Amino acid sequence: MSSLWHETAALPSFPTLHENIKADILIIGGGLAGLLTAYLLKEKGLSPVILESGKICGGTTGNTTAKITFQHGLIYSDLIKKGAETAKAYYEANRQALEKYRELSKNIKCDFETKDNYIYSTDSRQKIEAELNALRIIGAKGTFAENLSLPFDTVGAVKTESQAQFHPLLFASHIAKALRIYENSRVIEMKGNTAVTETGSVKAENVIVTTHFPFINKHGLYSLKLYQHRSYVIALENGAELDGMYLDEKENGLSFRNYRNLLLLGGGDHRTGKKGGNYTELRQKAKDFYPKAQEKFHWAAQDCMSLDSMPYIGSYSKSTHNLYTLTGFNKWGMTGAMSGALILSDLLLGKTNPYAEFFSPSRSMLTGQIFLNGAESLLGYLYPTVKRCPHLGCALRYNKAEHSWDCPCHGSRFTKSGRVINGPANGNLK
Ligand SMILES: Cc1cc2nc3c(=O)[nH]c(=O)nc-3n(C[C@H](O)[C@H](O)[C@H](O)COP(=O)(O)OP(=O)(O)OC[C@H]3O[C@@H](n4cnc5c(N)ncnc54)[C@H](O)[C@@H]3O)c2cc1C
Repeated sequence: MSSLWHETAALPSFPTLHENIKADILIIGGGLAGLLTAYLLKEKGLSPVILESGKICGGTTGNTTAKITFQHGLIYSDLIKKGAETAKAYYEANRQALEKYRELSKNIKCDFETKDNYIYSTDSRQKIEAELNALRIIGAKGTFAENLSLPFDTVGAVKTESQAQFHPLLFASHIAKALRIYENSRVIEMKGNTAVTETGSVKAENVIVTTHFPFINKHGLYSLKLYQHRSYVIALENGAELDGMYLDEKENGLSFRNYRNLLLLGGGDHRTGKKGGNYTELRQKAKDFYPKAQEKFHWAAQDCMSLDSMPYIGSYSKSTHNLYTLTGFNKWGMTGAMSGALILSDLLLGKTNPYAEFFSPSRSMLTGQIFLNGAESLLGYLYPTVKRCPHLGCALRYNKAEHSWDCPCHGSRFTKSGRVINGPANGNLK
């Protein structure tokens, strides 16, 4: 079954690349990050070309929950440990992204709705208070909320007003129509600044990699700097009409939002390739909380998790020139993609962007997660099996909930017959 978004929006189609062309800017990957970057660059008078391996928004963007908010869990009490400047830059970049959506959505029919957002806790009022304190320090507005419209007890929530939710594919469909896109045109190799597909090539002055997990392994150490985390969503009829968008502060907690008459319940998360709650956990929660509800849609997807909870936006690596990326959204790629597109469009036009240095993929970030990612890869190489990921050779695990072969190291996924579903692997199983 495809997601609610795919079932209720018709995306435009684009041709396959069948020639060798030149472009001032090439964007590889037609999810929200690629589309928004191209759209903003076009707004500023440039002529970007997008190469997409399948259909646009066929990856995580088509399988999201599409809350647009600068409130990403309890992130500010975490970021402020690095310094108020970092937390403030993150807040401002994401706040501006939210406002840019508000501005664009005035002219795009995408069911954009202003909503309050709540990050709740079931057991720690202290964490809620720490987040409110961090918001106060950086000059952001947040209030304590209790008696929430959720079907279980909480100790309270951080509430931020005037956030938003939308239909991501109605939005993407509109902006894509203005762009020069080639679909079914997977980039299989980079030869200098020329991207090669099976049927053509694009030679570009600047290349931006928005393939979700960057697929060029030679530079940037993304196999150590990223891993992928999977989440599940079910859409319920006769669930509940909530007064806002809700998310548990715990990594594996539940997410709630409405879309028209449906309640979208998200959760069941786990590192890709590992075991987790998946649909089983979500369906049990739905039965407990909304016994009269019926499931209308279900879908799952994964996102790239960075080392320090902030995306990687900017030059692909210290040693590369005219090669950029936009990734590591930590499940917040709606505002992440927009703030990334705003930063990159400034960088490509030679303008200074006040947030660029905070999001640079080459920033210093020695965290415990880098060792965990390294250890996971080592285990993957040593684990005895014949099914190995073509990306870097890790052992694949069978995912019974979705009948796929998944890589616990970097999150590539394959169908039973070996067709690649998610990168960084850039081709099928042999
Ligand atoms: C279940 C779930 C719920 C979420 N909910 C929210 C939310 O409420 N709010 C929020 O802010 N964020 C949310 N996110 C995160 C957000 O959806 C993602 O961060 C965002 O969609 C990522 O967009 P992207 O363009 O980077 O990736 P994608 O949408 O995956 O796009 C990448 C594209 O690159 C293409 N590609 C890959 N390799 C190649 C190649 N070699 N050549 C050409 N093309 C290639 C792929 O086919 C794909 O279309 C959620 C994520 C999940 C998993």
